[in-house]
Amino acid sequence: MINKDCERIVVSEKEIAEAVERIGKQINTDYAGEEITFISILNGSYPFTADILRKIDLDCTVDFMQVSSYGSGTGSSGTLNIKRDISADIRGKHVILLEDILDTGFTLSNLVKYLAEKGPADIKICTFIDKPARRREEISADYYGFLFDEDLFLVGYGLDYNQKYRNLPYVAVLKPEIYTKTTD
Ligand code: 5GP
Ligand code: MG
Repeated sequence: MINKDCERIVVSEKEIAEAVERIGKQINTDYAGEEITFISILNGSYPFTADILRKIDLDCTVDFMQVSSYGSGTGSSGTLNIKRDISADIRGKHVILLEDILDTGFTLSNLVKYLAEKGPADIKICTFIDKPARRREEISADYYGFLFDEDLFLVGYGLDYNQKYRNLPYVAVLKPEIYTKTTD
């Protein structure tokens, strides 16, 4: 049953499980014999983080960051606002960032620059959803679950609209009236 505010499901629970399985296998192969430091970008990536981590057969740790990026509106990448920073020392570590959506790329390109100063061995990007058509920064995902070229605003599986719908087990598009409805 689809949530009453949603128009259609674009990624089903089954498709999510298959993508997580595929990415997990790929990471296990690529990092065989290594230790991984996962950094989960809150809030949106929490279900993806929990699902991916349970597919990893290697030594790993997980840390959390909460960031936002304010674009300047002039084409520059804006500035990174760190609401919560990692507590682990990532010097010399193999870092994999777990993100919900890679969209314009402002957030992750700023974040990668910030984390690179801490001296990790390398930083890779694993995003649940990639929207390459909307990219404005030179950054690409090393691992992704789904590609979306159509410009759709997605909710579910951690993705919110006004903090709601993160609990949906699938990814969906909201009904237009939900966006236009004034709160209150
Ligand atoms: P960007 O790559 O543009 O700096 O930022 C990507 C962030 O914007 C994502 O991590 C996500 O929080 C938010 N975002 C982008 N597209 C969507 C979408 O379709 N739905 C939701 N809920 N958030 C989105
Ligand atoms: Mg995000």
